[in-house]
Amino acid sequence: MASITSRRSFLIGLAAGATVVGFDPFGRSWVTEAGADTAAVIDVPPLDGELLTDAASLDAAADDFGHIVHRRPFAVLRPASVDDIVTMVRFANAHRIHVAARGQGHATFGQPQVEDGLVIDMSTFSTVHHVGPDRAVVDAGALWSSVLTSALSQGSMPPVLTDYIELSVGGTLTVGGIGGTSHRHGLQVDNVLELQVVTGEGDLVTCSPHRRRRLFDAVLAGLGQSALIVRTTVRLVPAAERARTYLLPYVDLSTFTADQRRLVTEQRFDYVEGQVLPGGGGWTYLLEAATFYTSPDAPDDAGLLDGLRYEPGSEQVVDQSMFDFHNRLAPVVEFLKSIGVWFHPHPWLNLFLPGSRADSYLSGVLAELTPDDLGGGPILLYPFLRARLTRPLLRVPDEPVVFLFGLLRTAPPEDQAVLTQMIAGNRDLFERARDVGGTQYPIGSIPFSHVDWVRHFGSEYGRLVSAKARYDSRRILTPGQGIFR
Ligand SMILES: Cc1cc2nc3c(=O)[nH]c(=O)nc-3n(C[C@H](O)[C@H](O)[C@H](O)COP(=O)(O)OP(=O)(O)OC[C@H]3O[C@@H](n4cnc5c(N)ncnc54)[C@H](O)[C@@H]3O)c2cc1C
Repeated sequence: MASITSRRSFLIGLAAGATVVGFDPFGRSWVTEAGADTAAVIDVPPLDGELLTDAASLDAAADDFGHIVHRRPFAVLRPASVDDIVTMVRFANAHRIHVAARGQGHATFGQPQVEDGLVIDMSTFSTVHHVGPDRAVVDAGALWSSVLTSALSQGSMPPVLTDYIELSVGGTLTVGGIGGTSHRHGLQVDNVLELQVVTGEGDLVTCSPHRRRRLFDAVLAGLGQSALIVRTTVRLVPAAERARTYLLPYVDLSTFTADQRRLVTEQRFDYVEGQVLPGGGGWTYLLEAATFYTSPDAPDDAGLLDGLRYEPGSEQVVDQSMFDFHNRLAPVVEFLKSIGVWFHPHPWLNLFLPGSRADSYLSGVLAELTPDDLGGGPILLYPFLRARLTRPLLRVPDEPVVFLFGLLRTAPPEDQAVLTQMIAGNRDLFERARDVGGTQYPIGSIPFSHVDWVRHFGSEYGRLVSAKARYDSRRILTPGQGIFR
């Protein structure tokens, strides 16, 4: 865990909002007008947007949703054009400055941060350019909520959305992007038609499954190692008007997971997720299944629920507009913000478990876990089908059914002992999952060495290394993932 940089002194004295005009390659610091007459200073090229070095901007870039790791950059670029991103990546490449894009900073373990380097704040780069019946062209900083809103106005929607839709398109395409429709459509990375990227060499390149495929394969779920995504064409599907959700309680783990498996295999519903909840002195289970429909058609409730073995009489049915369904976490987030918990540390753990070993792994883990280990956060548990996945760098167990298991922990603020214990717990649970063929979904907080990453990518590690050598030979991109140390 890095702390505030020791090179901070280089920036002391820079006025808030002062314009950066140069870079001192010997002092490794940015220079404002005041210091620009120093002989060694190299001019920063003209930009349409802003290059910021004020304390507030640097502090914000030295944090993320986890609030665990803090790495302070030298400067933050707020790009106003693709040219700005190309210009500054080329500049960084020439001077060996580390660079990372930051979407919404919802990673939890420093992944979008860059010690002593440059953070590109993609939130200023968020235009939805075009929405057609089957595709949308959007800047990488756009939020999925904006893409959904624009698409719904044209009668379409992204086939897969994350549970929380205030995440950036570039941020989720860099990791995967899983949701309740993944058993039908794969992850968000499996629904991309084209990408415009800036490689670590500073080249602006368009790639797709048919054009520069090697780069396309290296970028999606590529953890920002080969290129930064600036614009993307994502697939859209026709949108139904409404979603009807069935919340089905279970008391027994194996009955719950068997019904989940059955539903994703039969594809009876459009959407299948699930949670593990405290109850009855242990854990109970909630299957969440939704069907999408447009009036006057109405879902056949009895047919959809036929044969499922939930606790009878305690099911709930919720009917919502399509937008409200996908935005259903918004009131929860507002509440968590109002009580401050949203801003507490979040040492999250997200694992992919092989279907054949999921029940035995989970029964062992859940027998040991207590609600206190979660700090009030939820446990996610749902399956999807490996056959729907197309992206080589998304590492999941090689089995037909894979479960996402997420411990979305919240630690009390300023209690280092509890935080350390939760992070150690993540490592332990990861190792136990790895021993039965599981992988981590790399959005969470697990201490991970270079050797762990080599093992994580397995047979695809060579692809990552050769893409790195070809597209980011100076290894300047996205150091916060900790893959190439
Ligand atoms: C409340 C909450 C709910 C979530 N729900 C889900 C869910 O349902 N499903 C799911 O799959 N995930 C979920 N996540 C995890 C989330 O998808 C990832 O953490 C995602 O990377 C966050 O997107 P972001 O825009 O905040 O990216 P950031 O956190 O800003 O960045 C994440 C990584 O991507 C890199 N990056 C960002 N933008 C770009 C770009 N344009 N080009 C190249 N690299 C880039 C960063 O450098 C960093 O390494 C959730 C997270 C939170 C906090």
